[in-house]
Amino acid sequence: MGRVYLVGAGPGAPDLLTLRAARLLEAADIVFHDALVHPDTLALAHCKRVNVGKRFGRVSTEQRFINRALVEAARTHEIVVRLKGGDPMLFGRAQEELEALHAEGIEAEVVPGITAALAAGASLGMSLTRRGIARHVAFVTPRTGTGQSPGDWLAVALAADSVAFYMASGQAREVATALIENGRPASTPAVFVENASLANERRVHSTLQDLRSGPTPSFEGPALLFVGEAFQESSPQAATLEAEARQEAAERCRLRTA
Ligand code: SAH
Repeated sequence: MGRVYLVGAGPGAPDLLTLRAARLLEAADIVFHDALVHPDTLALAHCKRVNVGKRFGRVSTEQRFINRALVEAARTHEIVVRLKGGDPMLFGRAQEELEALHAEGIEAEVVPGITAALAAGASLGMSLTRRGIARHVAFVTPRTGTGQSPGDWLAVALAADSVAFYMASGQAREVATALIENGRPASTPAVFVENASLANERRVHSTLQDLRSGPTPSFEGPALLFVGEAFQESSPQAATLEAEARQEAAERCRLRTA
């Protein structure tokens, strides 16, 4: 019987991988990975690699199938790596995989990774717990699974000083509207970070008000939304450049819809 490692691949950049993760990839007998793992990270593994990635709107592999595949792989391989984006335990259905393995008596171990919010905060050069401004940070998703009601996320997103919204880019307008209607100031800074840590990273600064009334920015890569006073831009020059970029984006949006 083999052992299954649920390994964090980090946010994207291949050198944001832990040494433990790299060593396990090198030693692995089979790797099951998410769709967005960087090719250089995958190249560390010299064994069979199976893409079981789920991407919104694209072909997805059912969770039940993944659980089954991990169990079966552990019966015939010594080191099975399940490589997941960011940290494997955050919004990654890791618990389901762990439970499926334990139910079959298979040993499993988790290797943490750098989650998207931490990489995005680093890129922005903005502390999620900026002294005097933010004393708590919440990792939230407005996407609901079975058994959860749609508004579940709101209370915590109102209470936390800094909020990192995962899987939220398609719902930015609803998120901003709900936050404003329930008392968060419309002027609260909001910033999207797309492809955090990668060469094609993009940052879009705005406010809750902009998100509620302006065009919703569209993203091709994974994007994270931060909301909170800690994300206030400090340099007026940067703010002007961003404002110009926003105007251009709005112009492009108008041209497209015209
Ligand atoms: N376990 C992952 C999160 C999986 S949920 C982690 O810890 O990071 C997938 C969501 O994560 C995406 O919808 C997006 O909101 C966020 N995300 C993942 N990688 C990202 C990246 N490089 N840049 C910005 N957001 C990212």
